[in-house]
Amino acid sequence: MIKIILAQPRGFCAGVIRAIEIVDQALDRVGAPVYVRHEIVHNRHVVDTLKAKGAVFVEELSEVPSGEVTVFSAHGVARTVQEEAEQRGLPVVDATCPLVNKVHAQGRRYLSHGRTLILIGHAGHPEIEGTLGQIDGPVHLVGSAEQVASLDIPADTPVAFITQTTLSVDDTRSVIAALRQKFTDVIGPDTSDICYATQNRQAAVRDLCKKSDLILVVGSPNSSNSNRLREIGLEEGLPSYLIADGSEIDPVWFEGINTVGLTAGASAPEELVQSVITAIRALGPVTVEQLAGVEEKIAFRLPPTLRHLKARNAAHNNLDNKTAASKEADSLSNDTEQEA
Ligand code: SF4
Repeated sequence: MIKIILAQPRGFCAGVIRAIEIVDQALDRVGAPVYVRHEIVHNRHVVDTLKAKGAVFVEELSEVPSGEVTVFSAHGVARTVQEEAEQRGLPVVDATCPLVNKVHAQGRRYLSHGRTLILIGHAGHPEIEGTLGQIDGPVHLVGSAEQVASLDIPADTPVAFITQTTLSVDDTRSVIAALRQKFTDVIGPDTSDICYATQNRQAAVRDLCKKSDLILVVGSPNSSNSNRLREIGLEEGLPSYLIADGSEIDPVWFEGINTVGLTAGASAPEELVQSVITAIRALGPVTVEQLAGVEEKIAFRLPPTLRHLKARNAAHNNLDNKTAASKEADSLSNDTEQEA
């Protein structure tokens, strides 16, 4: 008998729910296609589901035809992307998570106070590219305590740091400690810029590790927060795997295992967690229980631009109706003329 213990909380966060809802509602209001710049959230299943409804995913705005509704992903975008959309007159709905926007605002504030800004995060991640591109001024990116040592900035420079929202809480603490060691005047939000969902999921997987022999994390390989969850399992000395869904489990993993800890990254839907339970059940009898944990009640408001889409669509339809009515009138009058 294999015991499966589910982490609580796991899976979708408020930013992901909002981003998916934005694409869904945009499709409802204007119809397909709706263009989405970058994967709306880092999960293949979510992307494929939205594709089937008519969303078209692109990496660059140049791939969006003129006039088409365009959604920016939850990770945020650089100002140059916003400006390009404005110049082209694209109707944009921004699904950037409000917690990512908060980091942008914080970075600008620190710079305006004359501080040298350090961004703790992973180079190349879309959130980092967006954050670097949202702050006018030099930003020093560091991904580890070692990289802090190689920062070429005098020790008495007043510095401030901001962080990527989906980092490992522990790694970030060690980078902040390195900053405090290197510089005499450091301010920053401690680890609180690592969002509530990331912190809760990491704490929950640590609890899960205490009771499990094996950790499974449901999430996509490019999901930063899902990778961090798997790393925590490994740090705790447990075999830990990141899997897209139940089809990726390997029966070999379960040999000699009594208890499986199961969690999901912030962009992974619950149905994929259930598909893993089903797949394990196919190997033999299982029991399923859930750890007691934080109950999240955070929800983010949808952007008002969605309402404007509706207005645009209504105006568009009105125009279409008027055009159709005038064509009908023209055709009636033509018919009459022909008859005469
Ligand atoms: S993980 Fe946090 S920052 Fe990222 S989308 Fe979810 S709520 Fe927003």
